[in-house]
Amino acid sequence: MDFRLSEEQKALRDSVRDFAREVVAPVIAEHYEQRTFPYEIIRQMGKMGLFGLPFGEEYGGMGGDYFALCLALEELARVDSSVAITLEAAVSLGAMPIYRFGTDEQKARWLPKLLSGEALAGFGLTEPGFGSDAGGTETRAVLDESTNEWVINGAKAFITNSGTDITALVTVTAVTGIRPDGSKELSTIIVPSGTPGFIVAPGYSKVGWTASDTHELIFDDCRVPAENLLGERGRGFAQFLRILDEGRIAIAALAVGLAQGCVDESIKYAKERHAFGQPIGNYQAIQFKVADMEMKAHTARLAYYDAAARMLAGEPFKRQAAIAKLHASTIAVDNAREATQIHGGYGFMNEYPVARFWRDSKILEIGEGTSEVQRMIIARDLGM
Ligand SMILES: Cc1cc2nc3c(=O)[nH]c(=O)nc-3n(C[C@H](O)[C@H](O)[C@H](O)COP(=O)(O)OP(=O)(O)OC[C@H]3O[C@@H](n4cnc5c(N)ncnc54)[C@H](O)[C@@H]3O)c2cc1C
Repeated sequence: MDFRLSEEQKALRDSVRDFAREVVAPVIAEHYEQRTFPYEIIRQMGKMGLFGLPFGEEYGGMGGDYFALCLALEELARVDSSVAITLEAAVSLGAMPIYRFGTDEQKARWLPKLLSGEALAGFGLTEPGFGSDAGGTETRAVLDESTNEWVINGAKAFITNSGTDITALVTVTAVTGIRPDGSKELSTIIVPSGTPGFIVAPGYSKVGWTASDTHELIFDDCRVPAENLLGERGRGFAQFLRILDEGRIAIAALAVGLAQGCVDESIKYAKERHAFGQPIGNYQAIQFKVADMEMKAHTARLAYYDAAARMLAGEPFKRQAAIAKLHASTIAVDNAREATQIHGGYGFMNEYPVARFWRDSKILEIGEGTSEVQRMIIARDLGM
């Protein structure tokens, strides 16, 4: 067992770290405040190859692996989570389903532009009435045999990267039939942006991740060719379970980045801020807070490294991915709260990065499976 990074992994980590500090940090607060999508940053991330990290070179990928993606996400989130979640959703929710389940034609059509970052894709699973209970999906797709098209009707809620100027498509889960036992047959269908009947609602007014793109989507007799079915008909449930299992490792990495960013900012501030005649960092009460924050970031990092290692070795990793996501999101919220506390009143002011970290931390306990859902997965995997 060796959790030390290879020279190549260190080089990737360091280049994303430099990019986050030099390119993202100076401008992201303005985007966050104005709630604007950081197109220029995304363009540069594309040029660096970040959107192609875990994909094969045949479609323009970097030939890396999922762990490389996680390292990049951690470093980005150490500075800003809006940019990190844009990458996470684009890769693990947007491009990955096509890479894993698509036909050769679908891959050739979509992957080169998604992997270069020139275009983004969203993944539409959640609905206004169903999130954790995704099997409850009500969006329907009916095959019109006269035109050989799927006719989609329904709505999806909170879909990341679904409404940017460079969004090329969303993959949506829909009920395509009822099985003999009465259960729903779920399938996944690719819906290109601009398809008539595919309506992107105005962006939400979010508490955090305000420089990322999230929309409700409405499908009103939206027609796409039958060949836009992703993988086999009726495999939608299994497909999204696989995508979410992997995605949890990526979200854990993102959460570790935020937690580590809280440590960075707390140390800096504690050395500068004076109270009762000396830097607050001289007080053991502050030092202990920072030590606990570092301990939490470190243990959560080991948890996601372990889950990623199991996944890449082809071993079962469902439980470890859920543990990593549950632990990392919990400690990210803890660290954001403590970092804000260390900053005192200034921690409540938007001009300090910790205010952004605090606002961005809570969603980590909700998105891609709530903490309750992670506990359900862990308990089920333990045979309960
Ligand atoms: C900013 C943002 C971006 C998102 N991006 C995407 C995206 O790109 N694609 C996508 O498909 N979705 C996306 N989501 C949706 C997200 O994954 C869901 O919000 C999440 O899965 C929870 O679903 P829900 O909001 O419907 O909550 P619910 O499922 O309604 O849950 C409400 C509460 O009940 C609890 N609960 C539910 N069932 C149980 C149970 N059996 N036992 C105990 N407790 C339970 C939950 O844990 C939660 O605390 C995004 C959400 C946000 C806010």
